[in-house]
Amino acid sequence: MPKNLFPLDNKKSFTNQKHVGHNRWHPDIPHNVTVQPGDSFHADCREWFDGAIRNNDSADDVRDAPLAGVHVLSGPFRVEGAKPGDLLVVDILDGGPCGDPDGDRLTENRDGISGEGWGYTGVFPLENGGGFLVDQFPDAYKAIWDFRGGKATSRHIPGVSYTGIFHPGLMGTAPSAELLAKWTKREKALIATNPTRVPPLALPPNPDSAILGKLKGADYDRVAGEAARTAPPRENGGNQDIKNFTKGTRVFYPVFVDGANLSFGDLHFSQGDGEITFCGAIEMGGFLDLGVDIIKGGMEKYGVSENAIFMPGNTDPQYSEWLAFSGTSVTLDGEQKYLDSFLAYQRANLHAIDYLVKFGYTPIQAYMILGTAPVEGRLSGVVDIPNACSTVYIPKAIFDMDIAPNASGPTQVKGSVASGGMDVPMSRWADHVEGKWAPYPW
Ligand code: ZN
Repeated sequence: MPKNLFPLDNKKSFTNQKHVGHNRWHPDIPHNVTVQPGDSFHADCREWFDGAIRNNDSADDVRDAPLAGVHVLSGPFRVEGAKPGDLLVVDILDGGPCGDPDGDRLTENRDGISGEGWGYTGVFPLENGGGFLVDQFPDAYKAIWDFRGGKATSRHIPGVSYTGIFHPGLMGTAPSAELLAKWTKREKALIATNPTRVPPLALPPNPDSAILGKLKGADYDRVAGEAARTAPPRENGGNQDIKNFTKGTRVFYPVFVDGANLSFGDLHFSQGDGEITFCGAIEMGGFLDLGVDIIKGGMEKYGVSENAIFMPGNTDPQYSEWLAFSGTSVTLDGEQKYLDSFLAYQRANLHAIDYLVKFGYTPIQAYMILGTAPVEGRLSGVVDIPNACSTVYIPKAIFDMDIAPNASGPTQVKGSVASGGMDVPMSRWADHVEGKWAPYPW
C-alpha cells in the first residue's frame, strides 16, 4: 500500500484531524500535502456529510442534512512543478470502503460511520436539495446498503444485489482567481432569473459551514465569502459523478494554479448514470490510492480547457443482459418540449419505475434501485425533432427474479410491500400509503 498522506480518524470529526481538508473551491485554500510528479499515495476520504447520516431506519437525518457543509474533501495536494496550462495526470490505482476494499470485515457495524461496512442512499426533500424526480418524490427517504464480498444488499430494498462500481464522485484541481470569478458571475446570473425558486437554480458562495483547511482569521473570512460551492461539476472537474471513474482510470485535469492543488472525496460504492436521486449513489467514506504526473503545456497541446478528459478503467462489473426503457421529451401533462434530453431521461426513468412497481416494489424502492445500481443512461437520439430520446438500461442479473416481460406476468419480489411483510421504514412513506400524499398517479 502506498504511504497514507491524508489519514482520517473515523472517531473524530473532519475538522479535528491531522490534516483539515476543505468543502469549497478557492485558489487561496493552502495545500495540506506536497507530492512529486510520478508519486503514488494513499488518502482517506470522509463521506460527503462527514458522518451525519446514520445506519438506522429513519430518514430524518437525510431530511435535516447539513447541505451547507458539503462536500468534505481530502486535499489540497500540491504537485510540485505543476503550472497553469499543464495537464495533471491522475491515476486511480485503487479505492474502496474504509480500510478494506470489499468492506467485509466491517459488515453490519451499525454504530460506525458510512463506509465501515455499509453505505446509504438518500432522496432529498424539496425544501432541502430536491432531486431528479422531485415532483414525484418531494419527501426524504433513506436506504442502507450492506457491503459483503464486493456486493451491496439492502434491508430496505429486497430482491436486488449488485457488485459495486466503486468511484470517487468528486475530484478536481483548484480554480484560478479569474476562473472562480467567472463561475460566481455566471451562476449568480442564473439565480437572478428566479431567485426564490425551491430548490434553488444554483448555490451562491455561502460562508456558513465553510471548511477551508488551515486558513484562519481575516483570510478565512474573505475566502469563505468568495469560495465556490462544490455541488456542480465545472472546468476543474469537481462533482462530475461519473460512475466510470473506477480503478484503473486515468484522468487529465486542466491546471489553473501553481501546484494544481488536487482534491477529492464523495466516494461511491455504486451508482447509476445520472446519480438520479441526487444523493443517488451508495455514499460512503473510504480510501483512494492515486498516482500523479504532469504533461507540461498539456492544455494547449491537446486543446483541453473545458474540463477533464479521462480513460476509464476496465474493472466495472460485467453485465451482459439488459432491460432498457426509453422516454421522449413530452411532459407528464402531455406538453411537447423541443429536444429536451433531460426531460426524456426523466420519462425513461419514470417508465422504469412504473414497470418495477408491477413486481411488488414501492415507487421509492424502484427509484433508489435506478440511482444506485450500475444502470446505463444514454442520449439515444438528439436530432429527431421535436422528441429527444433518452434510454436507461438496467442489468437483469441484479434481480433475484427474471424481470423480462413474459406471458405469465410479473413475478412478485419476496418480502416487498406488495407481498405483505416488508416494512418500508422511510419517513413519509406511511403518508403515501394512507393517501395523504400522492403526487404521481401510480
Ligand atoms: Zn456522492
